[in-house]
Amino acid sequence: MTTYDLVLANGRVIDPETGLDAVRDVGVTGGAVRAVSETPLDGTTRVDVTGLVVCPGFIDLHSHSVDVAGQRLQALDGVTTVLELEAGCYPVGAAYRRAGLEGRPLNYGFATSWAVARMAVLLGLEPTGELSDFFLNIGRDAWQRPAERAAVDRIVGLLERDLADGALGIGILVGYAPRIDPAEYLSVAGLAARTGLPTYTHARELVEMDPGTPVDGAEEIVRAAAETGAHMHYCHVNSTSVRHVDRVLGLVERVRAEGARVTTEAYPYGAGMTGVGAAFLAPELLHRRGLTPHSIGLLGAAGRLSGEAALREAREREPGAAAFVHLLDEDDPAQFAFIERALAFPDAAVATDAVPLLWRSGVADPLEWPLPPAAVTHPRTAGTYGRALRMLVREQGVLSLPEVVRRCTLVPADVVGAGVPAMRRKGRLQPGADADITVFDPAAVTDRATYDDTARPSAGFTHVIVGGEFVVRDAHLRTDAFPGRPVRAN
Ligand SMILES: [Zn+2]
Repeated sequence: MTTYDLVLANGRVIDPETGLDAVRDVGVTGGAVRAVSETPLDGTTRVDVTGLVVCPGFIDLHSHSVDVAGQRLQALDGVTTVLELEAGCYPVGAAYRRAGLEGRPLNYGFATSWAVARMAVLLGLEPTGELSDFFLNIGRDAWQRPAERAAVDRIVGLLERDLADGALGIGILVGYAPRIDPAEYLSVAGLAARTGLPTYTHARELVEMDPGTPVDGAEEIVRAAAETGAHMHYCHVNSTSVRHVDRVLGLVERVRAEGARVTTEAYPYGAGMTGVGAAFLAPELLHRRGLTPHSIGLLGAAGRLSGEAALREAREREPGAAAFVHLLDEDDPAQFAFIERALAFPDAAVATDAVPLLWRSGVADPLEWPLPPAAVTHPRTAGTYGRALRMLVREQGVLSLPEVVRRCTLVPADVVGAGVPAMRRKGRLQPGADADITVFDPAAVTDRATYDDTARPSAGFTHVIVGGEFVVRDAHLRTDAFPGRPVRAN
C-alpha cells in the first residue's frame, strides 16, 4: 500500500472542477495531491478532518498586502496564493526577486504595472518593483496627463518587456489617471490581446459620478474586450460601481453574450479605502457619490468625521492619511444588496483588495507575530473569505457552499489561467494538482476584523497547506513556514 507524506482523512472534499462534494481521504506527496479516495489512505502524517470542508486553497486575485505580515493574515483567512494584479509591479523581475530572497508563507505573483511604466516614461521615475513606486507618486499630476503617441508607444514597450519576463498580465489603474486618452487604454488592451494575457482594471469614473469623464468607466472596459479581443478583468466592481452595479453588470453580461471575455470580482464590504486627500473626497464633490463627511472615517481614529470642517482639516493636515469611505451601509439590507449582487453575479470571483498593513508606530516589522496593535489595515485584508462564507452561505443563503468555494478557487485560477499554465494545477483538488489546500469548519468559519479592530484574523480555518506544507495547523499560524513559490507566466 502506498504511504503518502500527508493524509487528510474523512473530510468533506469539494473539487469545483469535477463537482465532487463527498467524504474522502486526500493523499499528498512531494507538494502535490496524489490521491482522492473513498477508501482510507495511509500517511506518514495522518490528520483526521471529520466534519470539516477540504477544498483547494483560496486564490486572491487582488492583494496589495504582499509582505510576510499581510500574507499571514490572509493565510488565516484561507488563502494560499496571493496575486497583485490590479496595481501590479514594474519591473516584475525585481518584485519576484525580492519575494524569493525574503521568503513568503504563501504563493505569490504579479502583473506588470501600467501606472508605474507611465511614471517611468512621464516622470523619469526609476522604478524598483516595490508597490511604493506607485503609492509615493500617486498624487503627482505629471504622470496622470494625457500622453503623446510616442510616449504611449514607450509605455507599451516597457509593458511588453515585462510580460516577456513572466508578468501575469497588465494592471491598469486608469481610475487614478482618469483624464487619459481612451486610445491609450485600447493600445494597452491590444498588447494584452497579442500576448494572450489578461488586463486587470480599476475603472475610471462612471458617467453617473462624473459627467465630464472622457469615457464611461464600464463602457471603456467592455468596449476594449469587444474591440481588441483581450480578456479584460473588471476589478472590485462593487466599489467602483456602488449603486450603479446593475447597469455595469448588465453591460458585462451583454458583451459576454456576444463572445467578449470580461470577468469580474467583488469583496463583501461597504467601505473602500483611500487617502483622505483624494480628489473625489473634496467636500463639494461628495454628493456625486451620495456621500457626506460622515461617510468618511480615518484609519486608527474612532468613529466618522463630524462634518465639512473636520474633512477640510483632515485633508489639509495629512492628505495621504488612510481613510475608510463608507460607500454603502453594510447594516442596511437594501444597501448591502448592491454588494451581494456583485458577489452573486455569474462567475464573479471573491477577491479582497487587501491593503498593506500600516504601522502606527512608524516602524514596520513584517516578521512580528502576533501582530501588535500598532499594525492596522482595512478589515477586508483579514476577513474577506471568512465573511463571504459566513454571510453568503450561512446567514443569507445567497449562494451554496460549493459555489462560494468555486468563486474563491477555480474561478480566480481560470481568470489568470489561459496564459499561465501553472494556474491549471491550482484551484483544483484532484490528483496532479498542487497541494495548496484549505480546511475549514463550515459551521464556525467567520471574519473577526472590524473597522475598529482591523487586523483581527478570521476564525474557523483549521488547516491551510501550501505546496504540501502547513502554514496554519490546528488554527495556529506557523511562523517558521515559508513554502510560498512564485507563479509566473513563463
Ligand atoms: Zn482599486
